[in-house]
Amino acid sequence: MRAKIRLFVEQPLGAGQEIALSQDQAHYLVSVMRKGSGTPLALFNGRDGEWLAELGTASKRGAVALCRAQSATQRLPPDLWLLFAPIKKARTDFIVEKAAELGAARIIPVQTEFTNSERIRQDRLQAHATEAAEQCGGTYVPQVAALTPLAKVLDTWPEGRALVWADEALAETAAPQPLPPAPAAILIGPEGGFSAAERARLRAFPAIHPISLGPRILRADTAAVAALALWQQAKGDWQ
Ligand code: SAH
Repeated sequence: MRAKIRLFVEQPLGAGQEIALSQDQAHYLVSVMRKGSGTPLALFNGRDGEWLAELGTASKRGAVALCRAQSATQRLPPDLWLLFAPIKKARTDFIVEKAAELGAARIIPVQTEFTNSERIRQDRLQAHATEAAEQCGGTYVPQVAALTPLAKVLDTWPEGRALVWADEALAETAAPQPLPPAPAAILIGPEGGFSAAERARLRAFPAIHPISLGPRILRADTAAVAALALWQQAKGDWQ
């Protein structure tokens, strides 16, 4: 049987393991979903696959889950990062949620010259990534990094990782461009696009793979989803 409620936990999972759920999870199960002990749950922690569990003692203040048997082995997404310049709150939330669903391994908000927001709520974005993984049946939650200046990201770029740059200046370029295999990263700019200085640095960057996302200028959230889908289809785990 497939448990309808999937929860991410930090603890190791294994047969017979008792897992203390968080207060938020207890509140969700007991007060929101009105579940009692014996309710089947699916738990995952990003390392041990998915485990079928059962809700044990449960009150609004705390709940325990009893781990029974593994229901899916651990799956990791391809080694693809998403780098994006945060935009308005709801659209930034959307980007993180969709990146987790589409199988990004790591999400890095980057500060560019025209980035609209100076700060992000990293914990809130991480919670969105976790919720998306719970909802989409994944066993992996991508880490959301702290907001990092683009220059610093480029200065510390890991050897061998391709940087797929969604370049709005290529919008009219029709031919589909070949995409590099993993390890790779996708870079999406803010509403204002990239500055002249950023464009010059990116163009000269050794790992760079500029791509077009078609003849229309997309909003950053649309561009992120389109680029992730393109790469997953060409080089990722959609094959
Ligand atoms: N204000 C900019 C557009 C920014 S769109 C301008 O008018 O030129 C936000 C980001 O989405 C861009 O920085 C780019 O990374 C991506 N993007 C949007 N449409 C694109 C396209 N057709 N091709 C490639 N990248 C695109």
